[in-house]
Amino acid sequence: MSNLVAIVGRPNVGKSTLFNRLTKSRRAIVNEEAGTTRDRQYGKSEWQGREFSVVDTGGWVVNSDDIFEEEIRKQVLLAVDEADVILFVVDVMNGVTDLDMQVAAILRRANSPVIIVANKTDNHDLQYNAPEFYKLGLGDPYCISAITGSGTGDLMDLIVSKFKKEASEILDDEIPRFAVVGRPNAGKSSIVNAFIGEDRNIVTEIAGTTRDSIYTRYNKFGFDFYLVDTAGIRKKNKVNEDLEYYSVIRSIRAIEGSDVCILMLDATRGVESQDLNIFSLIQKNQKGLVVVINKWDLVEDKSVKVQKTFEEAVRSRFAPFVDFPIIFASALTKQRILKVLEEARNVYEHRTTKIPTARLNEEMLPLIEAYPPPSNKGKYIKIKYITQLPNTQVPSFVYFANLPQYVKEPYKRFLENKMREKWNLTGTPVNIYIRQK
Ligand code: GDP
Ligand code: GDP
Repeated sequence: MSNLVAIVGRPNVGKSTLFNRLTKSRRAIVNEEAGTTRDRQYGKSEWQGREFSVVDTGGWVVNSDDIFEEEIRKQVLLAVDEADVILFVVDVMNGVTDLDMQVAAILRRANSPVIIVANKTDNHDLQYNAPEFYKLGLGDPYCISAITGSGTGDLMDLIVSKFKKEASEILDDEIPRFAVVGRPNAGKSSIVNAFIGEDRNIVTEIAGTTRDSIYTRYNKFGFDFYLVDTAGIRKKNKVNEDLEYYSVIRSIRAIEGSDVCILMLDATRGVESQDLNIFSLIQKNQKGLVVVINKWDLVEDKSVKVQKTFEEAVRSRFAPFVDFPIIFASALTKQRILKVLEEARNVYEHRTTKIPTARLNEEMLPLIEAYPPPSNKGKYIKIKYITQLPNTQVPSFVYFANLPQYVKEPYKRFLENKMREKWNLTGTPVNIYIRQK
């Protein structure tokens, strides 16, 4: 689980400009899926070899006067709850406002470090306005200009210096990490309770990693794994749960800390936009996926036909990624609970699949010969050799070709589908790269 940096502050101080600056370097690389609203507010960044996530919580604020201050208050509370480092952005051109004072009052009670970012310091003289921000009671203001980029490198140094340890510095890398995610009321706490039950002997809590995340080591029934236990599962209703952004941020933390996500859907509700947003976060982070259709006990007609229809509906909503297990379960009656763990373990194994180069070439080259990539401008495209990259998060393959730029997405999908037919890669994303031979 990487560190989370939250950007807060009243409107127009430059939060989204700063967000773009902090995340820009990675945005081109991260597998972006257009269309989900979350993309604008959640991004990845890297500095001095440390990866971290940035959230512009302000992006969620509804801009209507009467609920305005309340929204900002919630946004700040959320950051206090979730972030490892909070960037409190203020505007040197405007100085301190009432709203700044209100935000500061909440932030002074935060446990996480707060950095006052005095933005819009576009020139040297504007620095002389900064001492006014001492009255916020949060220490030294840090002058930057999000627009010109001045001061942002030093700000990054400061942010990184305040980070907590990463889970990877503490946990055993050989043991899979599972996260239970889903929208509020899908049954996340119930299934975690069903796994763990009253039997406290089978779990060990491992604290001390990034803020508010606790890994639970589970060892029973032949299973040995970490469960990412976020605050979202443990303490409820600190902030209004039906705010979508709240549950999404909770999910981000759990997803990042996991290898395989157990996505809970509510059988009585089907797939809704919030489920899709969480799914796209799982995809974007390249995590393994097991879908649980929970509350199956409440569905009267459990016929094979109804199951099939349900399954197809789920897969079509998640397309083009369709190769993942779907389990009809009940956290309440514990029906198929162990099956969920079994599938999560299978997906973890698929995620770590290694296919020997010889087998890759034996199986795939004849297929490619029979169905070659379409020629481009009269030029024939030849794929000559395939190999798997070592030490990647998910199975990643390089296809060496004479004219890699002409191999298009549909053909890559064709290759991926064929690989999924030949090897069991259910539940894991796969990367396919075409490179120059
Ligand atoms: P947000 O509402 O806090 O997310 O603020 P925005 O990032 O949307 O910025 C509000 C306005 O301030 C925009 O017109 C930005 O171009 C401008 N702005 C942001 N950063 C700077 C800066 O460093 N200097 C100046 N002069 N303007 C800035
Ligand atoms: P969370 O918000 O995702 O953690 O959801 P909870 O685990 O708190 O469950 C929300 C509500 O759904 C509670 O009232 C649970 O008792 C109920 N619930 C959870 N799983 C099931 C299930 O499999 N069947 C039924 N009938 N109710 C369930």
